[in-house]
Amino acid sequence: MLPIDLRSDTVTRPTHAMREAMNAAPLGDDTIGDDPTVAALEARVAALMGKPAALFVPSGTMANLLAIRSHTEPGDEIICHADSHICYYETGGYAAVAGCSIRFLTTPRGLFTAADAARLIRPDDHHFPRTRLISIENTMNRGGGVVWPMHQLADLASFARARGLRLHIDGARIWNASIHLGLPVADIAQHADTISCCFSKGLGCPAGSALVGDQPTIARARRFRKMLGGSMRQSGILAAAALHALDHHFERLALDHAHARRLADAINRIPGLSCNLADVETNLVYFEVSPDLCTAAEFCRRLEAVGVRTFDEGPQRVRAVCHLDVTESDIDEAARRIARAATST
Ligand SMILES: *Cc1c(COP(=O)(O)O)cnc(C)c1O
Repeated sequence: MLPIDLRSDTVTRPTHAMREAMNAAPLGDDTIGDDPTVAALEARVAALMGKPAALFVPSGTMANLLAIRSHTEPGDEIICHADSHICYYETGGYAAVAGCSIRFLTTPRGLFTAADAARLIRPDDHHFPRTRLISIENTMNRGGGVVWPMHQLADLASFARARGLRLHIDGARIWNASIHLGLPVADIAQHADTISCCFSKGLGCPAGSALVGDQPTIARARRFRKMLGGSMRQSGILAAAALHALDHHFERLALDHAHARRLADAINRIPGLSCNLADVETNLVYFEVSPDLCTAAEFCRRLEAVGVRTFDEGPQRVRAVCHLDVTESDIDEAARRIARAATST
């Protein structure tokens, strides 16, 4: 029995066609500055996002860290959500490397308003750190993969601008937000000073992310990328995968979203499990395991035993992720196995 791997959309393997594209890519040395495929990807992503410049980096974590380091100076403060990736999953890089503190929000689903942010801005006083940056996540992973409503994002952006603050979007899954909204990524990115995006998630690449923004900010990020050891050489081989993914794996994200709704609906009909269907907007399915059944960690072990791989994301909360390497029939089979795990004792 082959396991169905729903741990993350990062587990996808490059397709044969993607490997061919990587194999065929013209290469140079990107640290010297002459890898044509990296240059082509950076130009393409900048254009897609409607921004002047883009920087190819090894990971989304580095893209976010470079954004933070480029927008701030040590001692500055960031406003973001407690459940955001930069706060929760990035080993405190904002503090350890960028020297920043965070004032965080704990609002539902990881979304917040300009009024919520306003309460966290420090007064202009020499006692306090300087509030410099608001960072949001779109889609919001720990919020359920939910998408920021456009009016709420526009409101927050004009508020940030009026208060002289920078706005960064952690857009690891901005592609999913774009597909969900039926809007070009540029319509979302226009509200931010910088946006990061990942090619290694739903788009199915083996590695690679980008940071996108204005020329001076991206030039500064390029220096910090070198400082952190993230400047690569024949990285066109990875950029080629990203170019291929933008051509072939972007529109199909709609399929992952349909699979997620199908899975969520099936899970919701299994006694002892529940899923808030309204929050399943993209490819992530978070569901609750009733304490009468077992803990989330125990349920993940049971799922592993029946051939479904997931992660526990809270004491009673499990995450299942739909991606390029799972078909509709895999989803139906996963739902049957999940039902079996919930009824076995
Ligand atoms: C995956 C992810 C990142 C970056 O992760 P890397 O593994 O460093 O590429 C950043 N933000 C969010 C919301 C993510 O899901």
